[in-house]
Amino acid sequence: MTQRLMELLLFVALASAWGLMHASAGWAVAGALAGALLWSLLDGLRARRLLKWLATADTSQTPKLRGMWAELYVRSQKVLKNLERKIQSSDARLANFLAAIQASPNGVILLDADGRIEWVNLTAAHQLGFDQQKDVGQYIQNLVRSPIFKTYISGGDFSTEIQIGGIGARPSVPSKISVQIHPYGHKRKLMLTRDVTAVELADTMRRDFVANVSHEIRTPLTVLSGFVETLQHIPVTETDRNIYLGMMSQQAQRMQMLVSDLLTLSRLEGSPAPGPGDWIDTDELMAPAVEETRALSTVIAQPPHEITQVAETAFSISGNKSELHSAMSNLLSNAVRYTPAGGSIRTGWHLRPDGWAEFFVEDSGPGIAAEHLPRLTERFYRVDRSRSRETGGTGLGLAIVKHVAQRHGGQFNVTSKTGQGSTFSIALPPSRVRENIPS
Ligand code: ADP
Repeated sequence: MTQRLMELLLFVALASAWGLMHASAGWAVAGALAGALLWSLLDGLRARRLLKWLATADTSQTPKLRGMWAELYVRSQKVLKNLERKIQSSDARLANFLAAIQASPNGVILLDADGRIEWVNLTAAHQLGFDQQKDVGQYIQNLVRSPIFKTYISGGDFSTEIQIGGIGARPSVPSKISVQIHPYGHKRKLMLTRDVTAVELADTMRRDFVANVSHEIRTPLTVLSGFVETLQHIPVTETDRNIYLGMMSQQAQRMQMLVSDLLTLSRLEGSPAPGPGDWIDTDELMAPAVEETRALSTVIAQPPHEITQVAETAFSISGNKSELHSAMSNLLSNAVRYTPAGGSIRTGWHLRPDGWAEFFVEDSGPGIAAEHLPRLTERFYRVDRSRSRETGGTGLGLAIVKHVAQRHGGQFNVTSKTGQGSTFSIALPPSRVRENIPS
């Protein structure tokens, strides 16, 4: 301030001295006024420069200023730089925060007080079919058309979540999206979405499974308790009694087989996959399996089947012996059970040109129509229900086989045509195959 005053006085003094030098005291006063005016003009020019700089607030530019204006410039620049730093740091924090929400496996949508989308993350956009950029500003009710959602959002009770249909990864498979709204701030809403398709599917499968098991057990149980009641209340001849006991034992066996297959399945699901531990000679696996198959065929088929064991190179495979035996037995017993008496069955282990080892069972049975093939390994799925029941099938055999193959890193395969027999196979990867060293 003192500097400014000094500068003004200097201008006035110089101009009045100039006036005095040239004429009278009147000129000196005029000179002083002219000096003050000149100083004001110069001062105004500096103020204008500072205002111009402030208008753009470009911290990289330095306006030409002196005195108090230069001081004002330096201080403003400091304040601006501080502000700039603060904005940059809160921008970075906001970007980090949004990136974290973006990475969330759940969908997040921010709605303003009128229910318009303010921000939406990629997950929610995918689940509900939004455009992450273009749909900002749109009313949520115009984009989510489910009547359940409309009632939910207009009702204002957000204490529970709702489920609506979403846009799945594959449009042919509808997805289920759980939605919950959490109000915050002034009438604003945070909408969280979660894809519950898999959970729903698992729930449905569990319910179906329990219903199927109950159904499978109820039939033999009803038969059994019927016979028990008959034997308890009605006098029967010795012959009838033996017939009834025979039937009762058959039903008990059926339940036993069902329980045993269920336990096998649950063991396969609940235990770690077999490592590349023990090496088993394929002949060692084939011999008992073929023997059992021949025995079963003589019991249930008249004349028995013609069973051929095909043996090529001698090799070993690594895996769990009892699991592999169970899978092979299931395929062989199916061939016997579904192929009419006297039909032919070929089986064996062979090495494929691509290095995989394959166990196959080929039969001359009725074959299976193409529409059933993809569903054969579903639990309790049967093509020929009555034949399965008659021959003691549980409907779980192929599910077990597929599990065993997958647990060994292998594949399960079926090729079949109605009336032309079937070929079932299990293939194991080269890492589980070793040629036998001749002794
Ligand atoms: P099941 O205990 O009923 O035999 P599986 O899971 O072993 O159950 O087989 C499922 C269904 O596949 C069977 O019910 C049967 O209809 C069909 N199937 C299995 N193997 C054969 C086969 N070799 N020939 C014809 N149909 C078969």
